[in-house]
Amino acid sequence: MKGFEYYAPHSLEEALSLLDNWKEKAKVLAGGTDLIVQMKNGNARPAFIVDAKNIPELNRLELDDGKSLYIGAAVPLSKIITFPPVMERFGILYQACSIIGSMQLRNRGTVGGNICNAAPSADSAPPLLCLGAKAIVARLGGNRIVPLDTFFHGPGQTALASNELLVGIEVPAPPTHSSGCYLRHTPRQDMDIAVVGVASLLVFASQKNRCQEARIVLGAVASTPLRVPQAESILAGRVLTEEAIEEAAERAVEAARPISDMRGSAEYRKEIVKVLTKRTLKRAWETQSI
Ligand SMILES: Cc1cc2nc3c(=O)[nH]c(=O)nc-3n(C[C@H](O)[C@H](O)[C@H](O)COP(=O)(O)OP(=O)(O)OC[C@H]3O[C@@H](n4cnc5c(N)ncnc54)[C@H](O)[C@@H]3O)c2cc1C
Repeated sequence: MKGFEYYAPHSLEEALSLLDNWKEKAKVLAGGTDLIVQMKNGNARPAFIVDAKNIPELNRLELDDGKSLYIGAAVPLSKIITFPPVMERFGILYQACSIIGSMQLRNRGTVGGNICNAAPSADSAPPLLCLGAKAIVARLGGNRIVPLDTFFHGPGQTALASNELLVGIEVPAPPTHSSGCYLRHTPRQDMDIAVVGVASLLVFASQKNRCQEARIVLGAVASTPLRVPQAESILAGRVLTEEAIEEAAERAVEAARPISDMRGSAEYRKEIVKVLTKRTLKRAWETQSI
């Protein structure tokens, strides 16, 4: 590994000054489960490392106003999945975060690192997009809010400038009478990344089985996580049926733009999109709370 200087600031201000000085020569370190691997294999060669783990604002995990969830960018995944409001009210996010890596990895790795690394297969991204999450981004002199649907620019590319830091993620509470499901397919059972991931969220009208709104996001089948309005519009305003779900899954397949790689061919990925879209929609339907 190439040599680097390591800094562990205890304030946000200090971290932002360091990033402002060094810009693209610096990298933020959260859990390091992506970054250290990339540094070891030569794909990242930062001259300066700014460790985010001691910054108070990045370690906050709270349910603000009893509604929206705030996840500090340095909060480990293991803390997120044992936070009762996440388990009870943000089930779709809980499902995704609890299958990332292993217990050891979840003790270090963060949702912040998962989205800043911007792998198309990042498991937390589809549920966060389904829930309408926003990134809170800071630079010296101010903060800005970036809706997650404009955060991902391509593999390893995000809306963050080199002097900016992700402070946290704000996740609105799921709408009343909604139900969601995240599923992924991996060739190995554990410690593997998604060949395809699908998050589906259904919002029900007060009448049983009538879908008011659908949100469907695909992972690992395009250069960024992909929301599929073509599939969502099939279900919105309709009484759910097996046929409607089948049709929505077909639309999701049409929207997917997968590549072929060692984990699976593009054709195989499209087939998995169909299976997982149907499966997530059916599970969300079966668990509706009307
Ligand atoms: C064995 C193994 C299994 C894995 N399994 C999975 C899996 O099942 N699913 C999955 O999605 N991923 C998986 N991963 C990838 C990785 O563990 C996750 O992406 C994890 O969430 C990354 O978080 P981290 O805190 O370790 O990020 P880090 O490695 O610390 O950072 C990742 C990137 O984000 C940047 N960054 C981090 N925090 C900030 C911030 N606050 N502001 C700006 N930039 C920041 C870093 O500079 C770096 O470029 C796996 C990795 C390994 C090694």
